[in-house]
Amino acid sequence: MRKAIGIDVGGTYIKAGLTDENGNILKKKQFPTMAEKGSRDIVLKQIENAIDFAMEGLTESPAGIGIGSAGIVDDYGVVFESPNIPEWHNIPLKKIISDKYKFPVTVENDVNSITWGEFLYGAGKGYNTIICITMGTGVGGGVVKDGKLMRGNKYSAVEIGHIPIDYKGPQCKCGNYGCIERFVGKEYIVENAVNAIKKGEKTLIFDLVEGKLEEITPKIISAAYRKNDRVATDILINVGICLGALFSGLVNLLNPEVIIIGGGIAQNVPIMFETAEKTLKERAMKILVNDVKVIPSKLGLDAGIISAGALVFQK
Ligand SMILES: [Zn+2]
Repeated sequence: MRKAIGIDVGGTYIKAGLTDENGNILKKKQFPTMAEKGSRDIVLKQIENAIDFAMEGLTESPAGIGIGSAGIVDDYGVVFESPNIPEWHNIPLKKIISDKYKFPVTVENDVNSITWGEFLYGAGKGYNTIICITMGTGVGGGVVKDGKLMRGNKYSAVEIGHIPIDYKGPQCKCGNYGCIERFVGKEYIVENAVNAIKKGEKTLIFDLVEGKLEEITPKIISAAYRKNDRVATDILINVGICLGALFSGLVNLLNPEVIIIGGGIAQNVPIMFETAEKTLKERAMKILVNDVKVIPSKLGLDAGIISAGALVFQK
């Protein structure tokens, strides 16, 4: 069976693995990105160390190297605008890696990559057209349409996190106003909890962090929700409504079969999925939305590695 090297370049860690065509990980390891050193050469060296680790002991050449990287990626594998890695701008990553290793290299935006991985091996398996969003500090997204990963004219695009749901809304880090990320990004979810507490609302969230508001995370909010806390439940319902509003636009545009939500915040929060799906069904055009399901991602913590490997197996 053909094997691929999957490299997931994040702001904190570079995750590397050897994968097979069925999406199994044969070995894996993570390396610090060393972004804080502020040098692109150090980060590139770490990527090479990660590739060398994955290749160690291979008796035949891998089918290729797949790299998922934060940032916008053009058709030549040049990475632009990656906010979490300093100097990670205008990096001809595909050329640098192909010059050193002599087999095919594919570079893709990290969330586009994860969308492809979920399509081949995860929650999107068996469907033709899927939308995937990942929720974390940032909100990312990807689309597989008719079995092909969707990209823009020249760049990776499909920046679903920066689609506005409120044209008069608060300004987002990207410069636009009312982007979905400005409502459901990690720090804004936390902000809702802090504001509720400052208004004097009683909530388990306060008890769980023993009054230390700076320790509130989406995980704490979901834990409070699972103990039937009203404030936490309201926050997650609001997240679901925002997502539902966004999805209604996406469904009207693309008529997908499923919408997949991944990321730490999306674990074990049925109320968020139910609200998102209910809002979506109320708002999107009936015939386009009838059979659409909103479901959690499946690839788990190793999604980045499995998906980067999956890039090698694109038709
Ligand atoms: Zn934005």
